[in-house]
Amino acid sequence: VSDTASRDDLETIARRIRDIPDYPRAGIVFKDITPLLADPHAFATATDAMARPFQDDGITHVVGIESRGFILAAPVAQRLGAGFVPVRKRGKLPSATMQREYALEYGTDCLEIHADACGPNARVLIVDDVLATGGTADAARHLVEALGATVAGFSFLIALSFLFGERRLADSVVSSLVVY
Ligand code: AMP
Repeated sequence: VSDTASRDDLETIARRIRDIPDYPRAGIVFKDITPLLADPHAFATATDAMARPFQDDGITHVVGIESRGFILAAPVAQRLGAGFVPVRKRGKLPSATMQREYALEYGTDCLEIHADACGPNARVLIVDDVLATGGTADAARHLVEALGATVAGFSFLIALSFLFGERRLADSVVSSLVVY
């Protein structure tokens, strides 16, 4: 499933991801990572493995997507010697922003990045907890590219392969540790 972590490490990680059926709505199986975050060894193992494929890529900034993406992106940034940049829901960032609307199952949502978060010389890794349809990650990619920066890749803890998010992110390097 992943060549960036040993089988033992992946088992350590996967055992601490729990399924919550019918949350937040009927029919959705929510991947709850709070048991993983509460275990210092598993948490560090996961963020090590999320950073490893990109350690020689000259990453200057790691973008974390609100809100579980923040928790994973900050330690990944520190491991890569890179800065951390938040991508947030509309209205949460205090300074001037770029915005990107994207389609949800019902309706649309909007993500923002600070307009001065990074520039044309930046090589950016985008991090989130779960890759589902890829709409969220794709919107984050558009925001980074709108600043003139280069998206070097995506690193997810979990990918739900039956939703084909990776297709949406084609042309980019995508790393996912635990694939369902
Ligand atoms: P998508 O845009 O469809 O790829 O959805 C990705 C975003 O929704 C991520 O920020 C995830 O945190 C969240 N998400 C989607 N599906 C799930 C799930 N089954 N369990 C937990 N989070 C999810």
